[in-house]
Amino acid sequence: MHLLVIEDERALCETIVRSLRRLAYSVDYCYDGEKALALLGVERYDLVLLDLNLPKKDGMTVLRTLRQTDRETRVLILSARSEVEDKVQGLDAGANDYLAKPFDLDELLARVSVQLRHASRGAGRSSGTLRFKDWVLDAEARTLTAAGDPVRLTRLEFGIVEALVRRPKKVFTKRELFQAAWNEEAFVEEKAVNVHVSNIRGKLKPSGTDGYIETVWGIGFKLAE
Ligand code: CA
Repeated sequence: MHLLVIEDERALCETIVRSLRRLAYSVDYCYDGEKALALLGVERYDLVLLDLNLPKKDGMTVLRTLRQTDRETRVLILSARSEVEDKVQGLDAGANDYLAKPFDLDELLARVSVQLRHASRGAGRSSGTLRFKDWVLDAEARTLTAAGDPVRLTRLEFGIVEALVRRPKKVFTKRELFQAAWNEEAFVEEKAVNVHVSNIRGKLKPSGTDGYIETVWGIGFKLAE
């Protein structure tokens, strides 16, 4: 399980990170909202612990930005703002739980474990509608509509597009794209990924959206900004 702790009170941040690592979770952390968004743009987390009062970008901005592209990552707000209104606002913006400061560390770890249970139950299940520019992906029906027209993709092709759209800012190596789309650790060969991407672009051409997938020379692929 991969977690991100966003908390500008460094002593508190260190305490939380240390406790989580002791439970063998893989934990990243940062002290401000800008760094948080940078990490969320490239890393995939099962759970984010999010303080609301943060420098550079506040926690609500981080949450709303995350939720524009990602409904799945669990978010637990940790906040000194204990008012009901703040709690409701946080949950409305897509947080999964809210814990008021000061909190007991055991209480925090219990809430984390509840969220991670939900996260593992959701893992591997793709749900909801994903959007990128003129694309609309239905992750359940596994269909893509480009500029209003349905595009017939194979299962593997859809997996590639879905992986890219789920992490729109990430540069995928061919290996990463393969693993995300095929859901397997094995890797056949990079050429296969090139062939699939080329086929996808061909199918997207009539909708004028074939330029959405950019080649990053020497690395792999990403979505166009
Ligand atoms: Ca704070």
